[in-house]
Parts: sequence; structure tokens; C-alpha cells
Amino acid sequence: MAEKYVYDFEEGNKDMKDLLGGKGANLAEMTGMGIPVPPGFTITTGACVYYSTRCAYPAGLDDEIAVHLAALEGKMGKKLGDPDDPLLVSVRSGARASMPGMMDTVLNLGINDRSVEGLAARTENPRFAYDSYRRFVAMYGDVVLGLKPEAKEERDPFDALLEAKKEEAGVKQDNELSAEDLRDLVARFKDEIKKRRGMDFPQDPHEQLNGAIVAVFKSWDNERAIAYRKMNNIPSDWGTAVNVQAMVFGNTGDTSGTGVGFTRNPATGDNEMFGEFLMNAQGEDVVAGIRTPLPIEKLSGYLPEAYGELKRIRGVLDEHYHDMQDFEFTIEDKKLWMLQTRNAKRTGFAAVKIAVDMVAEGLITPDEAVTRVEPEGLNDLLRPVFDPAEKASASKEGRMVATGTKAGPGAATGEVVLFSADAHERKTADPGAQLLLVRHETSPEDIKGMAAAEGFLTQFGGATSHAALVARQMGKVCIVGCADLDIDYDKRVVRIGSGDKVHSVREGDWLSIDGTAGEVYLGRIKTLPSEVEQVLIDGTLDPSASEVYREFEQFLSWADARRRLNIRTNADTHDQAGQAIAFGAEGIGLCRTEHMFFGGDRILAVRQMILADSEEGRRAALDKLFPMQKDDFVGIFRVMGERPVTVRLLDPPLHEFLPHTVEEVANVANECLMSVDDIEERKRGLVEANPMLGHRGCRLGITYPEIYQTQVRAIIEAACQVKREGVDVRPEIMIPLVGSAREMAVTREMAVVEAEKVLAAEGMEMDYLIGTMIELPRACVVADEIAVDAEFFSFGTNDLTQTTYGISRDDVKGFMPVYLDKDIYEADPFQRLDQVGVGDLMKLAVERGRKTRPDIKLGICGEHGGEPTSVKFCHRIGLNYVSCSPFRVPIARLAAAQAALEEE
Ligand code: PEP
Ligand code: MG
Repeated sequence: MAEKYVYDFEEGNKDMKDLLGGKGANLAEMTGMGIPVPPGFTITTGACVYYSTRCAYPAGLDDEIAVHLAALEGKMGKKLGDPDDPLLVSVRSGARASMPGMMDTVLNLGINDRSVEGLAARTENPRFAYDSYRRFVAMYGDVVLGLKPEAKEERDPFDALLEAKKEEAGVKQDNELSAEDLRDLVARFKDEIKKRRGMDFPQDPHEQLNGAIVAVFKSWDNERAIAYRKMNNIPSDWGTAVNVQAMVFGNTGDTSGTGVGFTRNPATGDNEMFGEFLMNAQGEDVVAGIRTPLPIEKLSGYLPEAYGELKRIRGVLDEHYHDMQDFEFTIEDKKLWMLQTRNAKRTGFAAVKIAVDMVAEGLITPDEAVTRVEPEGLNDLLRPVFDPAEKASASKEGRMVATGTKAGPGAATGEVVLFSADAHERKTADPGAQLLLVRHETSPEDIKGMAAAEGFLTQFGGATSHAALVARQMGKVCIVGCADLDIDYDKRVVRIGSGDKVHSVREGDWLSIDGTAGEVYLGRIKTLPSEVEQVLIDGTLDPSASEVYREFEQFLSWADARRRLNIRTNADTHDQAGQAIAFGAEGIGLCRTEHMFFGGDRILAVRQMILADSEEGRRAALDKLFPMQKDDFVGIFRVMGERPVTVRLLDPPLHEFLPHTVEEVANVANECLMSVDDIEERKRGLVEANPMLGHRGCRLGITYPEIYQTQVRAIIEAACQVKREGVDVRPEIMIPLVGSAREMAVTREMAVVEAEKVLAAEGMEMDYLIGTMIELPRACVVADEIAVDAEFFSFGTNDLTQTTYGISRDDVKGFMPVYLDKDIYEADPFQRLDQVGVGDLMKLAVERGRKTRPDIKLGICGEHGGEPTSVKFCHRIGLNYVSCSPFRVPIARLAAAQAALEEE
């Protein structure tokens, strides 16, 4: 049977998102639930995919659309293009995953020069008819005919004409324009189209419909949709569905309106209806942030019955979906219509709170709760707040100069930037730049600039405007609708304040925003750790005083009950180890001993060790380092208690430690009792063309055994000392960059001899393990041979990615941005594990390692160990643990639990 490309809303349900997109599937679901939804039909994502690859409709789509349109006309008792009483439709995009505002929409489709008169006569409302027509021409002109601003300073051509008309008519708001004004505006819009495109505005409604459907298909591949997909890992071959739906009008007069809402508060998670509306307006007015809408509670004063119905439906949706929904509604002449519902985007705070609350309310199970929070969202709960003392003094000094709507929690401070393109450019040039994007409003075109900024502040728009939605999703700090802001893009200055207290802030000046309180401050304000950190790490906040902390703990306890992966941490100091334990780490997966070499005056001894020209010289230097290393290990073992601690022996290329300045060289010469010239000569001898592939890793231990011997001695002596204090320490000695069985055998033997010597001298027994990092493709292939002498493998996926791809991880900046931009790589493989290539090598190593040693312990300690998709992969290939930086431990705990639940 031929593929079906069009479904009436009565034919679908919420589980058909792949085919009907999120919007289409949920319109169908609400229709089935008996919620008032204007009738319509959905063209499938399959049709879009077909169109994207072949630039043509699939066979039969035209006919299917005609059949479903006829059915819609039947239901509405109106015909598209009827000069007396036209059916008007909306044509909206809707992909499987929500991509708010990224693709196109056309409203009021079906009006032309004749039917506008019919509409005016039938509604007895010419103003409404011409308002609808001018909106349609502008949207169609933009979306289908491509009339957009061409330079960043240029205004939207239709907006510019509208502004001019308002000025001529002497009015401030769009809704003060008369029918005559609007009729004239339609004529000007059409002239502009003729001027720029050399064509008349299409009058045939069927041509209009096809144009709009094609434009929506094409908008799947517009620049902002592509950028958004990349940021959110949405595959490019999903396509968007297209929803064609009878129009209902929020702009017919004072008994109509439109709004958007949430079944709970998307910023805090509070269980209350939250949203905004505008009277006498169409939906895009709310989202575009052009007029600042009213909070939804105020609707009860205007249209109490519709408000009551909305509250009822809010409850029905929340309960039916068992998840917070965001919805769009329109009230036409007092009658409420629902235009969309979907699972709502939320801050990490809200996600955790809603998950915890819904379990308490009996709506979901703890397991479901665990699946409801994006692992990265937990970062929000760890986000900084302003230092209360600095904030208080800033207030006292009168630096709190404006307030606005809280849209993204947290505290951000940065240099003011007024254009998104500039923010993007500056951040690319200087990744450390702290920027605050300040704009009238934001639009999807701003997405890259928004990603570059710490936070954004807008003059217009409410808590559901584009800026607010994106802030929540990206986890940015955001304030919108800040009325006391006046931006002069030409002079590049922002005036903030009111009355006689107006401050000029130039681009590049510092500004601070508190997205939790909705406050704007002049200048910089110091930020402090989150509440969770204050409780867990600093001990400066009592758990009973922090609801955020209590919910965080509760939520992660459910995750812990499910996960099977152990979570360890990469920590080089006892402080870091302590932090990681507070966040739930169950061991150290990687202690990089070389990081200990940079502290205090150790570097001198390290340099002496490297530059000495004899074993004797090296031993002398190592003797100086030994007590310091041992002390470091004692500190770490004490903090870690009975948890396993993997210590890696020296790994990096020695040149990383070389002296550079004349003074540094002289100091080392002095220490080594060598001449400066001899030191320079040794330095030259250590230069390598490609140090990452040079004299490093176990090659160091094999060529200079005394280095590894000293390190092993320090580890085991420290372990003995702490064991004597009554702690059953569990040291694990890890050899880096092993690529052959002989390397493993030789270094293992060296380590065992040294360890046993210490134990014999101390008269103690101890369980310790000796294992290796797996960082080279060859190591994966010969993992069965390496496992003969390795009791554990820890995948060093930083190096494994580097050596598998043949890309130096320190030299990616020349091409990685282009590779990501051009989709050569779907993601940066140094951030997200390449499951296909690197991952396959890992699977091979797991399989071969276990063949030799069935109980071999397997983990990962590359950066990927804290990245959710990579953590899930590690679960699936059967590793025992992942190890990540302390602040990512909660994220890894959650990702590991989700991986276990996804398997069921
Ligand atoms: C690795 O290569 O993944 C690893 C953890 O080691 P390093 O980053 O220190 O090279
Ligand atoms: Mg490595």
C-alpha cells in the first residue's frame, strides 16, 4: 500500500510523534480527549524528508491534501478562498522534538483581496479582517517569499512599514490602527513585495497553501534550525511535520485574546498555572515579545469563564500526561480553544522539583522521576548565585537599577554586547570572555549569540518569550520585559533606569543580572557557589535551610537505587577528592601524579630529575620528590577511606616540565651541579617533533625505571601508613599508554617488586591492583595479551580518541569548528564519545580483556566519563565504573541510572 502522508487530528495520538511531529501528535491526543481543538490535519515528517531530498512532493500527496482539506471544509462549513465566508487556516511546523521558533509558521492563510471583504462583512468587523490580512501578507512575505532584513542593523521590512504607519496615524500600539489604516498597510506590504520580488502577492488560496507547506518543509533546513539541531543533538534526517488547522482568532476584539501557559512553573517547578496572555491579539504577538503580556491570573478579570475553563484544562493535561505541559490557547469571542500542548522545557531546578513533587502526588514512580531530568540539567542546581554581601552593598550603592521578569535563574555578570553576531564572534575569538547580551527582544536568528553569552537581558517580552524559552533550555541566566531599558543600537549604548535616574551603559561595560530575583545591577558582582555546594562542600548552609538541596538528595537517591555503574572521580588532590565524595563519588578513577609536580618548589626537583644526565642525578632528584608525593598520597588515602584509589604513574612528555626563562635554567643548573650550557644541551636533546606520540607514558617508566619505582614506593608506603591508622585502603596502580603485552609485563614486574619490597619492610599485607590505561588502538586489539598482566583496564578516551582519529587533541581549533559546522562530525569526539569508531575499539578491548581475565575490572577515566551519552554507552558495553571530574559526579550518577532504566 502507498505510504499515507496525511492524517486528520481524529486519526492520531500522542505516541505518533515520529510521524506526526510533537505538535501534530498532541493536537490529535487532545482531540481524542475531548479538549476543544480547532479541526485540522497533519502532513507527516516522511513527506518532509521526501521533499528535502528530492525537492518535490511524493506521489499522491497533492491528492491526499485535497481530500483532507475537503473534509476540513466540511467540518467547518466553509471553503478555502470563498469570497463571502472564507475558511482560514494556519500552517505550522512541528518536528518530533520541540524546536521552539526555529522553523516557520504561516497564519491566516486563505485571505485575498476578495475574501477579505467577505470576512469583514460576515464578522461585521472590517478592522479585524484587515488586521488578519496584513498579518498574513507580512508572514507569507517573510516565510514564503523571503523578505527579511538583509543586514544586522536593518529592521524587518514589514515591521518598518508598520512603524511608519503607526507614526503617521499618531498611535503607539498596533491595535490602535483603524480598518482604513490596516487596509492601506496591506497595500503597502503588497507594493513592497512587488518591489523586492517583482511579483504580485498570490491571490489563489491553493497556491498560498502549497507555498506555505513547501516553505515549512524547507524551514527544516534553515540556518537557525540547523544550529539548534546541532546544539540539541537532533538528527538532521527526522524532518518536520506540517499542521494545517482551521484558524481561530484572538484578535476579533475585546472578548478575544491569546496566550501561552504552563501547567506548573517552568522556572521554579511550583505547582501552579503559569503563563501570559494578550487581549485582542494573535499568538505570535506573545512569543515574539513585541507587546509585554499580562500574567495569566489577570485573565480572570477580563474573561472569567474562559479563565475557569483554562484552569480546568490545565489540571486535565497535567494529570493526563503525567508531566508538566506547556500550552497555547486562543479565546475567540469568549470561547477557549487549545492550539498546542507539549512536555514543557524547564530549568534544572524545576525539573528536579517537578519530578520529586509528582512522585509525592502519586502521578509518577521514582523510576519515572529519574527519566524526567536531563542529566546536564543538574548543572543548574550547581549554578552560582551572587555573593549576598556584594549584592547587598551593590544595592546600597544604588547599583540595582532595574527589574524585569525572571526567566532563567542564577547569577551572571559580563560585558554588555548588543548584537548576537558580535557576541558569537567575541566568544569564538576569546572563549574566556564573559558577555551579557542585551537586546530589545531575541529571535531564533540570535541563537548563536545567545549560546555565547552568560546571560541575556531584554527590554520586551514575557516569561514565555523566545529569550525566556531558550534561556531555560540552554541553562542561561535571563531577565526579560525589563521596561526601564532603552537600547540605542546605533550609538551602541543602553540607558537603564527611569525618571531622573537614568544610567548610560556602553557596549563593553559590565552589568550583572540576577535571574532568580529579576534584578539588574550596574557593574560586576562576585558570584558564589550554589546552595547545593554550600551544603555539601563548604558546609556553610544547613540542609534544612535549603529545599533545593533536599530535593537534589532525594532525587539522586532514586537514581542511585537503579544505577549499576559505579561512579568514581578524577581527582589529584585530597580537596578535590573530598568534594567528589560529597557529590557521591565512590572512588578515584584517575589521580594524575604529574599534577602534583607543579606545586610549590617541587617543579625544581622535577626539572632536576628530567635534566640530570645520569641515573644517579635522577635518583637524587627523586629522593627530594619522594616525601612530598608520599604526603600527597597519605592525604588522598585518608579522605578516600576504603574506596578504591587509582593512581597513575607518570605519563606526560617530559618537555612539559622543562625550564623556560634564563632564571629557571640557572636554578636548575645550580641544583644539578651542571653548567647552563649543559642544561641547554639536555633541553635540546629532549625536544620532540610530536611529543604526544613521543617519550611519554610507560615509555618513561621503561627507560627511567627509577621514576616508576619511586612513585610505587610512595604509593605503597602511604597506603601502609594510612592502613596503620585503621583504614582498609585500596590502592590501584595504573600504567599509562600501554600498547603491547611486554610493556605491561615489564612495568608490572617492576611495580610488584617495589611494592612487595615496601610491604616486606613494613611487615604488612595489602590488597593492591596493578592495571593499565587503554589509550591506544593497538592496546584494544591486543587487550587479551595485555590482560595477562593487568588486573584492570581504564579507558583513557582522551588519548584513545586522539590516536584513533589521528588528531592531536591540542590542535583541533583550526578545523573542528568547521567540521562541526559542515556536519563532517556530528559532535566533537573529544566531548562526546565516538561510539561507532572509538566505542567499537572499546568493545573489542572489553571482549578480549574478559576472555583472558573474566573478572577484570573495567572503567573509563577520559573526559567522556562525565558526559551523559558516553556514560550510557559505557553502561551498555558493560564497564564497571566511569570516572569524571567532581562536579560532574551527580550528572554521571543520573546518566548511569537512566542507562539502567532504558535497558528494561
Ligand atoms: C586519557 O587519555 O583519556 C586520560 C584520562 O589521560 P590524559 O588525559 O591525562 O592523557
Ligand atoms: Mg591519556
